[in-house]
Amino acid sequence: MKRGTNILIVGAGKGGASLLPILCEDKKVKLLGVVDKDANAPGIKLAKRLKIPVASDYKEIIQKERSALILNLTGKPDVSKDIRGMSGFNGEVIDGESAKFIWNMLKEREKKEKDFRRNIMEQEALNEIGVMLLSAIKIDELLDAILKSALEKTGSPAGSIAMIDEEKNDMYLAAVRGFSPKFSTVARWKIRDSGMTLYIINHRNPVVISDISKEPAFHNPVILSEGIMAIMAIPLVANDKICGILYIDDFKPRKFTVREVKFLRLMAVNATLAIEKARLMEKIEQMAITDELTGLYNHRFFVKSLEEEIERARRYNHHLSLMMSDIDHFKKYNDTYGHLKGDQVLKMVSGVLKEHTRKGDIVARYGGEEFAKVFVETEKGEAVNAVERMREAVEKFRLDLDETGLGSTVTISIGIASFPGDAENMNDLIEKADNALYKAKGEGRNRVCVA
Ligand code: GH3
Ligand code: MG
Ligand code: MG
Repeated sequence: MKRGTNILIVGAGKGGASLLPILCEDKKVKLLGVVDKDANAPGIKLAKRLKIPVASDYKEIIQKERSALILNLTGKPDVSKDIRGMSGFNGEVIDGESAKFIWNMLKEREKKEKDFRRNIMEQEALNEIGVMLLSAIKIDELLDAILKSALEKTGSPAGSIAMIDEEKNDMYLAAVRGFSPKFSTVARWKIRDSGMTLYIINHRNPVVISDISKEPAFHNPVILSEGIMAIMAIPLVANDKICGILYIDDFKPRKFTVREVKFLRLMAVNATLAIEKARLMEKIEQMAITDELTGLYNHRFFVKSLEEEIERARRYNHHLSLMMSDIDHFKKYNDTYGHLKGDQVLKMVSGVLKEHTRKGDIVARYGGEEFAKVFVETEKGEAVNAVERMREAVEKFRLDLDETGLGSTVTISIGIASFPGDAENMNDLIEKADNALYKAKGEGRNRVCVA
């Protein structure tokens, strides 16, 4: 026994076949072979794949291994009798109820082992998300990682995460895996009164659709064209509020197990926490580079960006222009109408500046009532034309500061300098633009001067 038990399986039907993998994995067992008269029996085919000897007659094997333990799974007592009667046989034959008992025990053990492995796997998956929760990860990367993990752990071929945009009162596709590119063309959708999304939101608990063909109410063009047959939708709930939905899909009907639903629900709790944290981090990061009053970038971020842009311009031989501007006689507004109205002027000017800023350019509140802007890959002449339009727009704006309805005007003075024409480095460039700005002030304000 110490060297292991030699076992021969006689009868390779379904029962025999299902025992093979279990016995194969058991180090204390040496499988001598699998016997069946039918060469096409499921156990024979499986044994061949597992490289276990097969035979059509048990005698061949027993003659070589006379002390083997024989599992007679044929259901025929005659076979046991025949084996026991073989000359020189001193092994044991197990059949009938005993064989069934052993079979059940082994199956039970296998189930427990599977459960154990699955428990560990689930813990690992939850842990993975816990780690993501701790690390500062970008929100779209985080959502993709959550989806990937959910699909892997449930063995599902496709899925997505949709997040709720509260401001716009709609949903957008935040992560997607396993679908055709066409799936992602519907990247944003309204939450319809009778649609699936609202149903899931109201339900608040996981919604399982095992066979979508039986649920015509949930049919939509995307589901049909992708061939989605089964869906599990898990709401992502944080602080009692749903922030999104995790969808696990299959292209064939599928009964999701209670265990899978429970697991994904736990995962969704962790995922939601991670999402909330990532969102908060992004908000904090955004706040750290934004001027609170105007919503423009702040001084620190601007200087850092300007430095980077100059380096880029140097490397790629590009031009870059810098604008420095300052509100004319700003003290007057504060003194006449108070600081709050002064703030209103600042907001108005920054609003106009924002509107006149191309994608890629960087506009910031440089100081109290001073604004700066980098025109990337832009020569001085082009920048002058752009700021001239901006200056006019500010001048045309009417702010009803004294509430007479007449409206007050605000003007700005602007200086422009360019890299590399006017300066070799950042400090030099800022100084040149500043000098141009003072020239504009000196020449009567509400104008653009160049270095
Ligand atoms: P000039 O045309 O020469 O630029 O005249 P000015 O009055 O705009 O120049 P000055 O630099 O003397 O005044 C700037 C004023 O901006 C002084 C300061 O109190 C005010 N200021 C700076 N930051 C803020 C702010 O955040 N809110 C308000 N309301 N005022 C601010
Ligand atoms: Mg000033
Ligand atoms: Mg000023």
